[in-house]
Amino acid sequence: MSDSEAPLTSLPSLRDVMARHDLLPKKSLGQNFLLDGNITDKVARAAGDLRQTHVIEVGPGPGGLTRSLLHAGAVSLTAIEKDSRCVAALEELREVVGERFTIIGADALTVDVTTLCPAPRAIVANLPYNVATPLLIGWLEQIAKDRSCLSGMTLMFQKEVAERIAAAPGSKTYGRLAVMAQWQCEVHWRFDLPPSVFTPPPKVHSSVVHFKPRPAPLVEVAWEVMERVVEKAFGQRRKMLRSALKGMVADTEGWLKAAGIDPESRAEQLSVAQFGALAVAYADFR
Ligand code: SAM
Repeated sequence: MSDSEAPLTSLPSLRDVMARHDLLPKKSLGQNFLLDGNITDKVARAAGDLRQTHVIEVGPGPGGLTRSLLHAGAVSLTAIEKDSRCVAALEELREVVGERFTIIGADALTVDVTTLCPAPRAIVANLPYNVATPLLIGWLEQIAKDRSCLSGMTLMFQKEVAERIAAAPGSKTYGRLAVMAQWQCEVHWRFDLPPSVFTPPPKVHSSVVHFKPRPAPLVEVAWEVMERVVEKAFGQRRKMLRSALKGMVADTEGWLKAAGIDPESRAEQLSVAQFGALAVAYADFR
């Protein structure tokens, strides 16, 4: 154990921190806390070796995963937390850890994570489930615009959302989230967690997913164009694409054929690369 790790082993229990800071979990903030160090260590390990990485944690709560990430040797840890009660609780941890740990009291939806610390930087979080999807889409867009802005993301979602992110074409859960995530990143399912490991237990199971930004996206095309095409295609997912995409360009069938796609196919049958081809061809037809 190094000197900087030593104070982490003598911290008060998370239950003690919660009691002293009146941290009764709030449903409106998606507060389902992980208080078992073995589990938070497992989440931190799912992010890989963090010893050369500046880590950003969204929604640290009372700080269980925060402790594990510091213990795992992150070069620095910047935590963004909306709940001022948690910020106060984390202040105690900051006094022990010192400069390696920064707390930002803010809504993560309003924070540009790429300005918080030097690269290489990674996000590791047990996300508040009510804002998990917009947060993920925002980070994917940043990766699309600057490939080196994040070296990885290790994120916990409710299992149903994780399934939508990792879904393959042809499956019921394949949609916008799968296409946009897999277009920009390699997506690796790490493990599931049952409700019983959280305080309080949520109604749903949870899953940890690791995102590794691809060196280049599967197809080179502007984020906004891909997003428009994918949204429109899945907007009416049961319809054939020649109907679902109607109105985007004058000649919908010509556009689909130019992209090498059968106009009678449906959005859920298209691979991520085919969506890319469709987005590339869009420029010639709009
Ligand atoms: N990381 C902790 C753990 O694993 O025990 C807490 C995770 S809890 C599921 C989600 C955390 O996100 C809560 O601490 C909550 O206050 C915080 N939170 C909710 N909405 C937020 C937002 N928009 N921006 C930043 N933090 C938020």
